[in-house]
Amino acid sequence: MKTIGLIGGMSWESSAGYYRLVNEGVKGRLGGLHSARLVLYSVDFHAIERLQQAGDWDAAGVVLADAARALERAGADLLVLCTNTMHKVAGAIEAAVAVPLLHIADPTGAAIRRAGLGRVGLLGTRFTMEQAFYRERLRDVHGLDVLVPDAASREVVHRVIYEELCLGMIRDASREAYRGIMREMVARGAQAIVLGCTEISLLVGPADASVPLFDTTALHADAAVEAALATT
Ligand code: GLU
Repeated sequence: MKTIGLIGGMSWESSAGYYRLVNEGVKGRLGGLHSARLVLYSVDFHAIERLQQAGDWDAAGVVLADAARALERAGADLLVLCTNTMHKVAGAIEAAVAVPLLHIADPTGAAIRRAGLGRVGLLGTRFTMEQAFYRERLRDVHGLDVLVPDAASREVVHRVIYEELCLGMIRDASREAYRGIMREMVARGAQAIVLGCTEISLLVGPADASVPLFDTTALHADAAVEAALATT
């Protein structure tokens, strides 16, 4: 089994989910007392969030590239960055290490294509919903047509992530708001919803939408298990 390197802490609420999911995945495949070989580097999210707000992605990239190097030194054979948003600096991480980074959009895009779907609604932070790095990966690599909520709804989705979910707060009123926002994207033609932020599955699940939900946390963790157990 290969050693998975998790770059986490963004937020730790979802990194805890990754830890559980990769262990459940290895146990599910190998059985018994098997568990994942992994190393976790968990950053102080306060510092990363400040850099996001300042638009200083280069500095954030330096922090995460350092984390990646530390994981490689600690024996990681592959890296998993436990946040969609920070894939904006995936290039800086990849340039810092020799081991592969499993991009979160790839298992997500592949699962959507396998389900035979082509047009998806994307929920995530403002950065993920509005900037090119994530939408273009889904479009150019996976051939998906990506819809996002309108500006007012994007603000709600973003605020709930930072002011509630990343702080461990799960509120019924916010779940109701997300349901409405997903309904609106389905009315505009979305055949599925991408939970493109690793905390969103703490708030909503399959019962909250009339179309399939693609949870990036679960799909990413599953891809990590697959890669760790691959014989090649
Ligand atoms: N975990 C979130 C994501 O998947 C948001 C936190 C962050 O900005 O990294 O995008």
